[in-house]
Amino acid sequence: MLVQPEGAPDEKHLRVRVRFADEGPELRFVDQRTFGGLALSDLVEVDGDSLPNTIAHIARDPMDPKFDPEAALRALRSRRTEVKRALLDQTLISGVGNIYADEALWRSKLHWARSTTRLTNPQGRTLISAATDVMNEALVVGGTSFDALYVNVNGESGYFDRSLDAYGQEGLPCGRCGTSIRRDPFMNRSSFSCPKCQPRPRT
Ligand SMILES: [Zn+2]
Repeated sequence: MLVQPEGAPDEKHLRVRVRFADEGPELRFVDQRTFGGLALSDLVEVDGDSLPNTIAHIARDPMDPKFDPEAALRALRSRRTEVKRALLDQTLISGVGNIYADEALWRSKLHWARSTTRLTNPQGRTLISAATDVMNEALVVGGTSFDALYVNVNGESGYFDRSLDAYGQEGLPCGRCGTSIRRDPFMNRSSFSCPKCQPRPRT
């Protein structure tokens, strides 16, 4: 989405133009890869906020002023699964993608396959706080995109990937202990972890 003054030249991939009653800048939906979409939804009340009903089931993300870390921890622990699957489940906590999850797990010294039922309260709090820190740091530097086409509103791609500790670091030394970072297949993607700092749980 781009905010442009009215009359600015149309972008090549401009799909939708939204004009406002104040005749101020217009909102433009510019989609180079045509993966995006725009839909109109009815609003429902959730915790005092009006949300489109199509997204009302999505949990709050750590950047949300109403985000409650303790509630997020209860939600994570209520789902009996691997901790990384729970982190990626947008109905439990939102905004944590594959890269942020690997970084948060590395910082928390937790293996991705650890069971949520075996997560202690301090470990869970550390993990949620690490995920929040990772997202905040990524936000400051513009996100984690490796793709030049995936840009922010200023047309810049993310720079956060330059400071990753685990994700994409297979074979490189762990920044904490020097052990080579390992890659495991995970849900058609990958999980990166340090075999020493993040020992695989006993099954
Ligand atoms: Zn390590």
